Amino acid sequence: MRRIYTSPNRMFVGLLSGALSDHGIDCIIRNDYLGGGVGDLPAQECWPELWVLRDHDEARARQIVEAVLPRQPITGEQWRCPTCGEWLEPQFGACWRCAPAVDP
Ligand SMILES: [Zn+2]
Repeated sequence: MRRIYTSPNRMFVGLLSGALSDHGIDCIIRNDYLGGGVGDLPAQECWPELWVLRDHDEARARQIVEAVLPRQPITGEQWRCPTCGEWLEPQFGACWRCAPAVDP
């Protein structure tokens, strides 16, 4: 098994899991329910992780992840929404939880 992606944002991990499944790549999400351990464990070790079951799917899975996620290089650090406290990836300028739906 190979770990393909990890993020504090469960939504992305689930989105990518669905995308890989759509391409016939078997994958699992680990740490899906470890969020409650944050505080006792290093936070990053509690993030949901997306793993592919077959090592030879890794390269294709990474291509799909790249295609699904926002394309601009990720710079900066995660930030925390001042309204709801959600941790957000640096490439996002607005909180997905609080912000009204925006047309792409
Ligand atoms: Zn928010």
